[in-house]
Amino acid sequence: TWGRIRDDLEKSIGKNNFVTWIAPLEFRALEDGVARFGVPTSFVGDWVNRNFGDKILEHLTRSGVDVDRLEFAVAAQKPAEPAPAAQPRRAAAAEPRDEGDMPGAPLDSRFTFDSFVTGKPNELAHAAARRVAEGGPVAFNPLFLYGGVGLGKTHLMHAIAWDLLQRAPEKKVVYLSAEQFMYRFVQALRERDMMGFKSLFRSVDVLMVDDVQFIAGKDSTQEEFFHTFNALVDQNKQIVISADRAPGEIKDLEDRIRSRLQCGLVVDLHPTDYELRLGILQQKVELYRMQYPGLVIAGGVLEFLAHRITTNVRVLEGALTRLFAFASLVGKEITLDLAQDCLADILRASDRKVTIEEIQRKVSEHYNMRLSDMVGPKRHRTIARPRQIAMYLSKQLTQRSLPEIGRRFGGRDHTTVMHAVKRIEELRGKDSQIEEDLELLRRMLEA
Ligand code: ADP
Ligand code: MG
Repeated sequence: TWGRIRDDLEKSIGKNNFVTWIAPLEFRALEDGVARFGVPTSFVGDWVNRNFGDKILEHLTRSGVDVDRLEFAVAAQKPAEPAPAAQPRRAAAAEPRDEGDMPGAPLDSRFTFDSFVTGKPNELAHAAARRVAEGGPVAFNPLFLYGGVGLGKTHLMHAIAWDLLQRAPEKKVVYLSAEQFMYRFVQALRERDMMGFKSLFRSVDVLMVDDVQFIAGKDSTQEEFFHTFNALVDQNKQIVISADRAPGEIKDLEDRIRSRLQCGLVVDLHPTDYELRLGILQQKVELYRMQYPGLVIAGGVLEFLAHRITTNVRVLEGALTRLFAFASLVGKEITLDLAQDCLADILRASDRKVTIEEIQRKVSEHYNMRLSDMVGPKRHRTIARPRQIAMYLSKQLTQRSLPEIGRRFGGRDHTTVMHAVKRIEELRGKDSQIEEDLELLRRMLEA
């Protein structure tokens, strides 16, 4: 059974994670609901337990194994070597060490430069990351990336690692979070192996520490981080750091560390703008097209999402994932309606509160017509078309229902609004002027 479960796990956590963490596990026994595994080192055991424990339990249970707990014990002898060169942390250390004892966390295979969409808000960070990934002479040290949650810091760091390793697989590129750094440090203290810890971290070629704000206030960890940092800089080894804010704004950080962090290149990832969000969505849709062939997504849906979900990229991605999963489940085309239903909670959370009145005002200004004609009876095209556009935008940008929108447009029927939405959706594809107008209006309303 374990063999089959391993295969399933590989599919669900990805090859890289599998090779690094699951492959070294040795299934020992199942007793009283406890599944026992041999692991090469206690670090691997802890890591697997914390990061993949639930997954493993879930897969075991699903295969009918009666288990409610996992136990990991250090194996007397090492299990077979996993496939080579799958992970950066596997490059040889200066002194012979246990393979499973290398620092560093697994890299997400989805986080590459190819999958990173660039735009104004992140172009500088992207360019700096690219530069580091080229692996030439160290131009700035450290590269300090900062920005709010979900803006792509971790993605960029992984991308640097993948790129470096592709160019120079022998390089020792270590990526880990500041939390993991601390964990390793505390473990070394406990096991009285500071020598090992020091030589390990001082032997890397490129060190990347994610979310460094985590060590603020943790004095001994900061101290050790500072020494590691200096040792690597002295050896001209590249360091990449990320944090959720600028070095100067991290409280409880020692001044000497702060100034060290500032002496390289400090770049921030700005909040996403509409174009970037749309670009990211479009890229994801390309991926989903392969995963869900035959699923149709109506015009305007991505624009709607890019416009409305402005919090962070992770939420944006989550929304799209849910939308595709839902649409494929019910076998429907992804329309604006479906999106609004399926994502109601997310949309409510990031509601921008554009009002129908505002839309009517902007649209009539844009088309040089009287505001009263928006709600009036005139049916001439020069008036009816802008009115339809305003209805369409009301549907896109507000949470109002079709009947409600109809009421606000001079007591029109909801079928009229429905027809307007459909008509504009059709026209968008054919008439580039309308497309442009919509874009412009949307931007004005967003501002
Ligand atoms: P952070 O570390 O800054 O909190 P992450 O790097 O974890 O953010 O990014 C969150 C999610 O958003 C990831 O799935 C990542 O792939 C995605 N993402 C963020 N920025 C971009 C971008 N510019 N292009 C493509 N995906 C992105
Ligand atoms: Mg991150």
